[in-house]
Amino acid sequence: MSVRLFFWLVIFVLPIIQRYMTLIPQKIDFINPFDFRILWNDGHEGFYQSKPLRVECPCAKCVNEFTRERILDPQTIDKDVHPVKMDYVGKYALLIHWSDKHDTGYYTFENLRRLCRCPQCV
Ligand SMILES: [Zn+2]
Ligand SMILES: [Zn+2]
Repeated sequence: MSVRLFFWLVIFVLPIIQRYMTLIPQKIDFINPFDFRILWNDGHEGFYQSKPLRVECPCAKCVNEFTRERILDPQTIDKDVHPVKMDYVGKYALLIHWSDKHDTGYYTFENLRRLCRCPQCV
């Protein structure tokens, strides 16, 4: 491969491929107040349940930033916890405002996809 072709690939082609490979939720549908589906831009239909997702909150109040150890005790989370509001944060994360007033959890799309509980992913 010529050097020129190589640079052309790195500078112009890779960002385009990357943009299309980035996972982005296209649609969020609530089945009931606790369970919802996310349709991803790659066609995957994800399934999410409130409590397990709340327990997996990645924020600094729930996970030790340095050791990555979970501080949050799942026992302290109400079984009726559910999202009251969701905000997209740029093109990379979803901020979920939970019914227990916890609203510091930024779920990056990558992390959110990993937490999918559809029959295909679990
Ligand atoms: Zn899935
Ligand atoms: Zn948290």
